[in-house]
Amino acid sequence: MLHRIVVLGAGYAGAFCAGYLARQLHSDDFEITVVDAEPDFVERLRLHQLAAGQDLPHRPLREVFAGTGIRLRLARVTAIDPGHRTVTVADGEGEDQIAYDTLLYTLGSTAARHGVAGVDEHAFHVAARPAALRLRARLDELDEGGLVWVVGGNLTAIEAATEIAESRPGLRVGLATSGELGGWLGPKARRHLLRAVDRFGITVHEHTTIERVERAAAIAADGTALVSDATVWAAGFAVPPIAAAGGLEVMADGRITVDRQMRSVSHPDVYVAGDSAFVIGDNGRPLPMSCASAGYTGLQATAAIIGDRTGRTIKAHALSYVGNHISLGRKDGIFQLVDSDARAKPGALCGRSAARVKSAIVATSGWAISHPTFGKPSHKYRAATGRERSTALVAG
Ligand SMILES: Cc1cc2nc3c(=O)[nH]c(=O)nc-3n(C[C@H](O)[C@H](O)[C@H](O)COP(=O)(O)OP(=O)(O)OC[C@H]3O[C@@H](n4cnc5c(N)ncnc54)[C@H](O)[C@@H]3O)c2cc1C
Repeated sequence: MLHRIVVLGAGYAGAFCAGYLARQLHSDDFEITVVDAEPDFVERLRLHQLAAGQDLPHRPLREVFAGTGIRLRLARVTAIDPGHRTVTVADGEGEDQIAYDTLLYTLGSTAARHGVAGVDEHAFHVAARPAALRLRARLDELDEGGLVWVVGGNLTAIEAATEIAESRPGLRVGLATSGELGGWLGPKARRHLLRAVDRFGITVHEHTTIERVERAAAIAADGTALVSDATVWAAGFAVPPIAAAGGLEVMADGRITVDRQMRSVSHPDVYVAGDSAFVIGDNGRPLPMSCASAGYTGLQATAAIIGDRTGRTIKAHALSYVGNHISLGRKDGIFQLVDSDARAKPGALCGRSAARVKSAIVATSGWAISHPTFGKPSHKYRAATGRERSTALVAG
């Protein structure tokens, strides 16, 4: 009987893992199904660009997985039942269940609201494609001089604010952050960031905690109202509650706790990669939610699945955190390396060359995801059957 591997999510972690498993596992023994709510691969790394008004490459998942043998189910995951090894999904046709023998959970994350009143009703964000498109539509409506406040002081907030300021020079952009803007950067990178923010004309309010978002203002803890035509909430990421509701052991923030091989500590037939996983990296600290972490954890999870299913030795892949790439519009950027304690190193690559490196990394990640078996069907499959694989779009 075929061993059913179900991959939840076809983002950076899920799409990569599914392709890798299809390359490595024999299709006579394994059936791989990927479930995602979106018909296209979502390049989350570039959603601030989409929101600012730029167009991104269109990468339909059906084409991405063509020729790999991977079954694609376009549906929203609404629940998991690890006790009965089933996943509940919903699409336009209704709800049904998918049974699995091995589950790979890579549902990623979305914007963290931190329980702040009014965020759901009045704020925009760039952590998911539909949300980025809503923000873009709102920016299109604004007149010259329209005011956009971005809330947050970390990578996504900086990238969103600078991208909007560069792409929409007629708008006024502000950044409100509870700490120091880029306070975690080394001195060279921080100086560069502050100069760039100044060049874009972005107003910065540091040590400003937003306690409430209203239709036309973000309200700070001291009562100051930041009048706003569009408030962009970019104060971190949070995972969906599906894993916790299904009974998997999770941290307080809902991320799934895993062992070093990326198996759920409560349900070892559930493997986790990407933003959904809480795992201690090689530096002794939790890996940050990032595209790089999705790559490292994806490599480790697939090695564990293959080892557990075939008896092959499970290689210990690095779980590293080496630094951050920050885009500052299309022509400027920062590449900040960190040391083994995750502290910023004093130097940094800044300016146009950092922007070029970042854009090459983003393009390479997008290309690699859209070629999950590097354009080739599994050599094992061809050797065994003499046939090419086809992709089945699994109906409801
Ligand atoms: C604007 C922006 C800029 C960023 N820039 C960087 C950067 O420069 N460097 C960096 O390292 N990281 C960056 N990140 C973070 C990075 O995008 C994430 O850490 C990374 O995408 C995590 O990969 P993942 O596979 O875990 O999740 P995702 O890439 O989010 O994939 C999750 C997939 O699951 C699907 N999904 C989610 N819920 C459901 C459901 N209920 N049912 C069905 N399908 C579902 C989604 O459609 C998606 O395809 C950025 C994020 C944003 C939003």
